[in-house]
Amino acid sequence: MAYDFDLFVIGGGSGGIAAARRAAEYGAKVGLAEAGRLGGTCVNRGCVPKKLMVYASHFPDQFEAAAGYGWTVGDRQFDWPTLIKALDTEVTRLNGIYGTMLDKSSVQLFPHYARFVDEHTLEVGDQKITAEKILIAVGGKPVKPDVPGIEYTITSDDIFHLPQQPKRVVILGGGYIGSEFACILNGLGTEVVQVIRGDKILRGFDEELRTEIQTAMAQQGITLMTHCELIAIHKTETGVDITIATPEKQEHILADAVSLAATGRRPNVQGLGLDNTGVEIHHGAIAVDEHHRTAVPHIFAVGDVTDRVNLTPVAIKEGRIFADTEFGNKPGLMSHAIVPTAVFTTPEMGTVGMTEEQAKAKYGEETIKIYRSRFRPMYYSVPGMEARTLMKLVVHQPTDKVLGAHMVGDYAAEIIQGVAIAVQMGATKADFDATIAIHPSSAEEFVTMR
Ligand code: FAD
Repeated sequence: MAYDFDLFVIGGGSGGIAAARRAAEYGAKVGLAEAGRLGGTCVNRGCVPKKLMVYASHFPDQFEAAAGYGWTVGDRQFDWPTLIKALDTEVTRLNGIYGTMLDKSSVQLFPHYARFVDEHTLEVGDQKITAEKILIAVGGKPVKPDVPGIEYTITSDDIFHLPQQPKRVVILGGGYIGSEFACILNGLGTEVVQVIRGDKILRGFDEELRTEIQTAMAQQGITLMTHCELIAIHKTETGVDITIATPEKQEHILADAVSLAATGRRPNVQGLGLDNTGVEIHHGAIAVDEHHRTAVPHIFAVGDVTDRVNLTPVAIKEGRIFADTEFGNKPGLMSHAIVPTAVFTTPEMGTVGMTEEQAKAKYGEETIKIYRSRFRPMYYSVPGMEARTLMKLVVHQPTDKVLGAHMVGDYAAEIIQGVAIAVQMGATKADFDATIAIHPSSAEEFVTMR
């Protein structure tokens, strides 16, 4: 049977666009449906606008440092609507770039929602489209806990469009998105209370780094409430009244109407018409094998909808490997074993490989040696600011292999990206030691640790 397309991609985010363009480069006839703005979560309501907000939030510290270096820093004011407008302009510019890229690759764009009618047929807007292979790359969306009054909270999707800066905000959740927004808003001058269920933010990351960031956030004035359960939210005349159960009692926190529920995300599978296919869902995510293939041999899925490692570069790589394998005759396998990542809190975290806890659990405590360096970077000594940097290497002594490299401090993401190449290649501590330092820098600590 002749199909309309060799490949039809549902979702024009990180994974979908990467796969569509790569498949088209191999000569496949490719269509792509995107219900919203091109670029997906990362470009429109994730990595990009968030990182721009992070930059904005760092200026107060930079003004303070500048004064220490002899600059006269004048009257400072921050205007939220100016920032929001600038973010939107930049995001719109990027949407345009993605549109041009799809055009140049001859990928036919359908600016509509798509759903399965059967295993080879999609309803896209008011058209029926058939494809030999279909890739589901529909990403995920935020979930709010089911408590009374939760409709009075916003999610990270909404924060980029708030017309006014909140004066006082409660952030529910201790994951990376909640913690990043706690730091962003605090840096921009909002009073922030972060409410979490456990005893520490950033579950899953190296314990020492979690503690380092949590302590620094408290020093910057963010109030953290641990071991708390959200009970209810009531609207008041000026905002919201949030009822929290602490281990001892119930407490009320008053905040602006815009408190942020950063309590997790879930794959975007509702409404896709998957019931009309044999595609299987496990724990809310589309189940795929190591070739990104669902239970239906010609239907594939990549990115957040599969809920494996939910990061943009991972979705992109999965999409490209899928296209290389299916259309380029270059079969490949995606490894999720060593995925460098960053958390753009203030201070920032960069991390690659195993945490100390993971390494000790896998290889035994006695075989793991930890090298660490904690210091005040030179930049802060002249203005007399208290910021610290922590760097840490997790080394497997029997083989001397560096299993993990972690950092909290300025430029952690930039520095760890380079170190990740060494960790990915299986470098040993001796390889790190044999590398000449760049002096003076913070990064040199990674090759001089004793
Ligand atoms: P998405 O990028 O979400 O794309 C899915 C697309 O599918 C969307 O555009 C959606 O509109 C469309 N769609 C859905 N259903 C349909 C349908 N039925 N028909 C047509 N179109 C449909 N990752 C990082 O690596 N670094 C970061 O710093 C980072 N920061 C983040 C900050 C926030 C606040 C958030 C929310 C996420 C962040 N991420 C970050 C994660 C990153 O954005 C995602 O991992 C990535 O976007 C996943 O790409 P994807 O292709 O799977 O899905």
